[in-house]
Amino acid sequence: MAKSKGINTICTHVGELEDKEFRGAVSPLYMSTSYAFEDVETKRYPRYFNTPNQVALAKKMAALEHGEASLIFGSGMAAVSTSLMAFLRSGDHVVFQDSLYGGTSNLVTEEFDKFGIEYSFAKDAKIDSLAAEIRENTKLLYIETPSNPLLKITDMEGVARLAKENGLVSMIDNTFASPVNQNPIDFGIDVVIHSATKYMGGHSDILAGTVISSEENISRIFHMAKNLGGSLSDYTVWLLERSLKTMGLRVKAQNENAMKLAEFLNSHAEVTQVYYPGLKDHPDHELATRQMNGYGGMLSFELKESTDASEFMKALDLIKPSMSLAGVESTILLPSKTSHGLLSPEERHKQGIKDNLLRFSVGIEETEDLIADLEQAIKKVIKN
Ligand SMILES: *Cc1c(COP(=O)(O)O)cnc(C)c1O
Repeated sequence: MAKSKGINTICTHVGELEDKEFRGAVSPLYMSTSYAFEDVETKRYPRYFNTPNQVALAKKMAALEHGEASLIFGSGMAAVSTSLMAFLRSGDHVVFQDSLYGGTSNLVTEEFDKFGIEYSFAKDAKIDSLAAEIRENTKLLYIETPSNPLLKITDMEGVARLAKENGLVSMIDNTFASPVNQNPIDFGIDVVIHSATKYMGGHSDILAGTVISSEENISRIFHMAKNLGGSLSDYTVWLLERSLKTMGLRVKAQNENAMKLAEFLNSHAEVTQVYYPGLKDHPDHELATRQMNGYGGMLSFELKESTDASEFMKALDLIKPSMSLAGVESTILLPSKTSHGLLSPEERHKQGIKDNLLRFSVGIEETEDLIADLEQAIKKVIKN
């Protein structure tokens, strides 16, 4: 039913709780951690992911991603770790694409050995490269598209097919696209994960995560989730519901701004490279057009090597340096000094992350103001 509604209608209405007592316009907030005991099967408790607000928001999440069911977590990493652990056991093997979110690759490289879970990182995100890593004990394929920070695109339909042919579970981190721009379940992907800290929250003030899939898969993830205990406080669940009401509007504004800024940067004499899937010269442009509803609010670019990228960042006025992303405010960072700063220079270069690469999270400000800020900062650093 929810599937047939448009994105902004889902954002605004699906899963809302009715205020029967006072007939207020928004969902009431139920902060109880203790509920009357009914029976062992249905006991309500926040760590069981079944309080009124949690269940209501999960309905909206499932509708947004065209899935049957969902769980809401205390962080994106709680959603990632719980989902992976739900499907993997000692002796299993999992294939990851290259260039994953740093927290996810830390989880894998720092923790999986302890649990006897084997893993491989494919050499890139191409289907053949993922297929080449599949072994007899492989159980799961995990991708992230668009990728951070180079906005590479992975073929979701190809991944879903590869997984089905080999009896694997396919899992995607859909954070960068948001459900506004990409719905992986429509392409056959089994499990969709979001860091709701990013576009879903959208105001840089909520830490949360979610996973969406079939009833059967969500039930499996739930059994691991209640044991690991990564649920989200109902107060934040309520705030996240509010944030999601404007997600469609925010993300569409960010898409439009990002496209215009990518074009501006791409035609600028001082900019040597722009990475944005919406540009025709992006190597995965056609694939992005096939599987995305919009090209997203993230882009990366490089200034001429003679230009000091750190100085350029300092010269920006409106656009602020920031580690995180996807807020309504525009932010920028140097991956070589931040998100990818712990990698060796060789490893960074192997991944194609140059020292002067800038990652830009485009906000909802007026396009002209953002262009003016970039222009004045470029002028300042060239003069030096
Ligand atoms: C931020 C992020 C995460 C982790 O989410 P948290 O909410 O910080 O735990 C996972 N994947 C991607 C792509 C992210 O950007």
